[in-house]
Amino acid sequence: MSGSDVKTGGITLRNLQKRYGNAMAVDDVSLSVSPGEFISLLGPSGSGKTTTLMMIAGFELPNSGHVLLDDKDITRLPPHRRELGVIFQNYALFPHMTVAENVAYPLRMRRMAKVEIETRVRRILDQVHLGALDTRYPHQMSGGQQQRVAIARALVFDPPVLLLDEPLGALDKKLREHLRNEIKTLHKEVGKTMIYVTHDQDEALAMSDRVAVMHEGRIRQVSAPKDIYRRPVDLFVAGFVGEVNLIPVKLKSGIVHGPADKTLPAPPWSGADRDATLCLRPENLHLNKGLARSPDGIQGSIVGMTFVGDATIFEFRSESGSRLTSKVLNVSAETMPDVGDPCVASWAASDATILTE
Ligand code: ADP
Repeated sequence: MSGSDVKTGGITLRNLQKRYGNAMAVDDVSLSVSPGEFISLLGPSGSGKTTTLMMIAGFELPNSGHVLLDDKDITRLPPHRRELGVIFQNYALFPHMTVAENVAYPLRMRRMAKVEIETRVRRILDQVHLGALDTRYPHQMSGGQQQRVAIARALVFDPPVLLLDEPLGALDKKLREHLRNEIKTLHKEVGKTMIYVTHDQDEALAMSDRVAVMHEGRIRQVSAPKDIYRRPVDLFVAGFVGEVNLIPVKLKSGIVHGPADKTLPAPPWSGADRDATLCLRPENLHLNKGLARSPDGIQGSIVGMTFVGDATIFEFRSESGSRLTSKVLNVSAETMPDVGDPCVASWAASDATILTE
């Protein structure tokens, strides 16, 4: 990149707040999105994701706080003056226009020269693999194809930022997976900042550079997908993203005590003595057949198992009555324990997370 190329497309949210009546839809949200970054807003229905996105797009005004595009405060600019691309779940294509006309629309609104419009439309349609369908009408296309037209239309005027609100929500599972890979590839090709709203954790983890997990109008954690999954900061994030074993523990003099006062493997703890929760993903809980006593393991037995194709999910019950879940990939059937087998459950200290709220 030459010195004169100023990278644009950074979005900063400062203490955004949005109330509807007495209800706080978005509560003090601050976030910095770097130019070219792909960030997801992930959370359950009603957590404030869409309201946050709509304040960035300009379709909603915050009660307080600011939205910045690079260094410019755009909080009160109308949507069309923000020059941000927006893609909704219901493609919102014009039914009476062909694919090419739909995609050309934002350029016609900007009174661009005809030749330039044609060049740009052709280029973007090729990029989303729709070059051959330019004369079709929306009703002659599948849902996935229509969504690609919507993406092309949002990208054609070269906005620095693309805002996507559950764009794959109306599609079936296979198509969702296919299109999410396409959007990811497109993101690499065009290098735009993308802010992507979804309630689907797999989608958020698979696509994003970072994920912002929202709950009740607040951002609970912003991290790379791996850290959201492996190092959740609180019980909400731990429970919302993936399956998790939660074991009530007591932290005493830096040591983690589980049920029946047993010492449990966990990362070093240096804080004050207190109650806490040990959080462990099922794939990190190992079950070893037999009753060999192990200082780091918990004695118990298998009380249930479910075959789920690529893996088997085991339900383990400890001698003190705790129930834990273990997920084992089905690579070798011979070593698998069976229901009723006595087992020792164990895990690596580094795979456990201690949560204190
Ligand atoms: P999400 O996108 O995470 O599902 P939303 O941002 O749509 O959440 O909504 C957040 C909260 O604000 C919800 O409780 C929702 O009912 C409320 N809300 C959203 N839009 C409006 C509106 N136009 N009027 C009143 N309440 C709204």
